[in-house]
Amino acid sequence: MSTTHKVVIIGSGPAGWTAAIYAARAQLNPIVYCGVPKQDPGPVLPGGQLMLTTEVENYPGFEHGVMGPEMMAKFRAQAERFGTKVMEEDIERCEFSKDPARAPHTLHAADGTKVHAHAVIIATGATANWLGLPSEMRLATSGGGVSACAVCDGALPVFRNQPLAVVGGGDTAMEEATYLTKFASTVYLIHRRDSLRASKIMQQRFLERPNAKVLFNKAVVDVLGDRTIEAVMLEDTVTREKSRLDVRGLFIAIGHTPATKFLAGAGVALTDKGYVELKNRNSYTNIPGVFAAGDVADAEYRQAVTAAGMGCQSALDAERWLAATGVH
Ligand code: NAP
Repeated sequence: MSTTHKVVIIGSGPAGWTAAIYAARAQLNPIVYCGVPKQDPGPVLPGGQLMLTTEVENYPGFEHGVMGPEMMAKFRAQAERFGTKVMEEDIERCEFSKDPARAPHTLHAADGTKVHAHAVIIATGATANWLGLPSEMRLATSGGGVSACAVCDGALPVFRNQPLAVVGGGDTAMEEATYLTKFASTVYLIHRRDSLRASKIMQQRFLERPNAKVLFNKAVVDVLGDRTIEAVMLEDTVTREKSRLDVRGLFIAIGHTPATKFLAGAGVALTDKGYVELKNRNSYTNIPGVFAAGDVADAEYRQAVTAAGMGCQSALDAERWLAATGVH
């Protein structure tokens, strides 16, 4: 009979590492499955979305900012300092038990191995949706002015007083575009249809800014620029006419996809948008001994600091649940 672990954490962004720090300090000997690099469809890396960000300026405690990958390396080192074991592998499938204090949960890793745990914390995050253009991905991964998070990257000096564009017509696009109007010379909102999906109030907030411009019926079909973005090529979705728009930053805000494919058939309740459903303001899912934290369970805030906070909650919830069920 193989070992049964007290806590296994799936995912290695701010939520996963924070859960590991708390669980390790509580002597629960956590194991983190941190995943492997892949394309799905954009780049997905162990460490999560911060691995695709340049400078993070809004995480408390780093008054001069910190590079996203450096911050994740620090999170990991802190978790390892307290004894967290890290498995560089994906969990591909889960068999959750109805009575995990006695018959533990079984997780299947992509390399064919299995791991057993009384408590499981799901912290696999969500990935930003991308347009799928090769030029977009190249400039996003090289810090060339293409980003899927204006709140993370928009205030960087390189974008100050420059023309910027946001793609999307939902609330996120409005929020990001409104935020960027504080720094940019002009913010172009590029939307593929002739009406916005966003709530009226969010639309109004953006449209009342003097430097806001909406381009309806336009699709971005190419991103131009070698090392940094210089312009986007637009195509009119009605007339098919092409035009060039000079911008120094491009922010993609066309929704997120929570990383829950590996939960297919496992019985975890998801919301209508595919996020893990949480009960109240804690990290309990519908399955005993299964907790969730961070962007995989949060369609609303999606910040590193909120994900870290949820990671902390999930470890405290798991610790209390293990104690209550008599697992020592
Ligand atoms: P969303 O509501 O799903 O909107 C996505 C937008 O991207 C839509 O306008 C869609 O166009 C466009 N889009 C999707 N795929 C595209 C593609 N391949 N090319 C070009 N455009 C594409 O997503 P969201 O804006 O991220 O919002 C998600 C949820 O969070 C919503 O429930 C929203 O209300 C909520 N939210 C709330 C707030 C707030 O209240 N403060 C802030 C942010 C988000 P179509 O319209 O043509 O489909």
